[in-house]
Amino acid sequence: MDASANDGPIAPDGTPWWELTVQPGTRNKTFGQERRLAAWLWFNKEIGDIFTMNELRDALGSDIVGKSEHLNRRLRTLRSVGWIIPSYKDDGSLSSDEYRLQEKGARYWLDEDRQAHKRFAPSARVRRDVIERDGGRCVVCGTAARESYPGEPDSKARLTIGHRVPQERLRSRGAADNIDNWRTECARCNEPVRAEVPDPQQYDEVLAQVRRLNRVNKQTLLSWLQRAERTRSELDRVYDLARILTHKEQEDLIGYLKTSTGGSS
Ligand SMILES: [Zn+2]
Repeated sequence: MDASANDGPIAPDGTPWWELTVQPGTRNKTFGQERRLAAWLWFNKEIGDIFTMNELRDALGSDIVGKSEHLNRRLRTLRSVGWIIPSYKDDGSLSSDEYRLQEKGARYWLDEDRQAHKRFAPSARVRRDVIERDGGRCVVCGTAARESYPGEPDSKARLTIGHRVPQERLRSRGAADNIDNWRTECARCNEPVRAEVPDPQQYDEVLAQVRRLNRVNKQTLLSWLQRAERTRSELDRVYDLARILTHKEQEDLIGYLKTSTGGSS
């Protein structure tokens, strides 16, 4: 697409970019919701303006923002291509349904994102090294590739790598990207579905469970939450090593453990 010919708010077919559902020049290729969102913000909001989820819903229809987690995913995509859009979590002066447009990034609806992505896209080599360094596990929840999540035997974790320091902050510092800024994350932790609006009942339930933990577990949980990473115990590390032994070696190990614990289960 020739971006310079499409600088305005109106797409080649005469429709505002944010109202498009099909990509210009294609028969039925969907015009992504992130593109519509980016175009609407670009042409309807000034730098420093505040917008709310309801406002987006009125402007773009309920399917584009749907639940708050859908909107959060879309905003995350924009943030990954240079948009700076703090929410109340980043900025205490905003209320829980408000966002501030602090910086406009790539013109996502014009495919400018490809350039922006390229700048921070890790090579296959970096990806491999990061995952190897982190022991082949998500550093946030501890799940390994293809392992199922607790209580969900049919799930299979997929590993990816994510930034420790958000790309937007790295950019604003003009810092170079390097392997230390990447960490292994599973797809779920990389894209967390987090409640955007406080739910006192849910908080009370979590707090009740936290209260039942002993002191050592409370300290461990505290450090995990503060670092947004879980550490792995010696037992976890031995389990990781044992898991990659051959079938025969595992049988031998099971035999040894049965004998040395005096148990048969
Ligand atoms: Zn995870």
